[in-house]
Amino acid sequence: MDGRATHPGPLRSGGASSPSSSDPFTAAWVSLRREIESCRRCPLHRTRRHVVVYRGGPRPRVLFIGEAPGEAEDRSGLPFVGRSGRRLDQAITEVGLRDGEFGILNVVKCRPPGNRFLSEAARKCRPFLERQLVLLEPKVIVTLGAHALAALDPTAPTVTVAAGRERRWGTTPLFPLLHPAAALHAPKYRVRWETDLRALSEFLSGPPGGG
Ligand code: SF4
Repeated sequence: MDGRATHPGPLRSGGASSPSSSDPFTAAWVSLRREIESCRRCPLHRTRRHVVVYRGGPRPRVLFIGEAPGEAEDRSGLPFVGRSGRRLDQAITEVGLRDGEFGILNVVKCRPPGNRFLSEAARKCRPFLERQLVLLEPKVIVTLGAHALAALDPTAPTVTVAAGRERRWGTTPLFPLLHPAAALHAPKYRVRWETDLRALSEFLSGPPGGG
């Protein structure tokens, strides 16, 4: 399943499988996806090429939540497909997750000009995020970067303090990471990213609460 595919479709590309009208999850997901893709609630709809909804498996064990689409994502309609996305995919493999066990989405579904995170867009987009979380029912949430952490846990300390340790989103374990772009651009964050990934890997393989 991805932003344009249907349950239980392929990881990145759409259309390999057809929705079943007898599957309540599929019906609800397809309906939500169409609603998001036609959204004009905030000014970002004027400059987007694609709305970026989701890529990953239905009901993923681990859901990665980023901030907002970048240029490559806006072009493709899929989250985390540029350099940061490749770094994230590598990390997902390193922590032992296979296709179908994870999903990726953003707090904001349309690309902000200049890649600036816009709080107003996040507020308008919030109902979509919450409905995605209800439908996907992840066992573990992993936030990527400061804005994603703040969106899920406004009481959290800065991401450089919170990253690498378990928190909670309601009853669901929430594990903050730095944004993968930080690991790409700053040597000190590269080391921290690797350290936090090891912590995430241990968290996911250990009992209980690691999903
Ligand atoms: S960012 Fe969210 S609220 Fe704004 S137009 Fe896109 S889908 Fe709608």
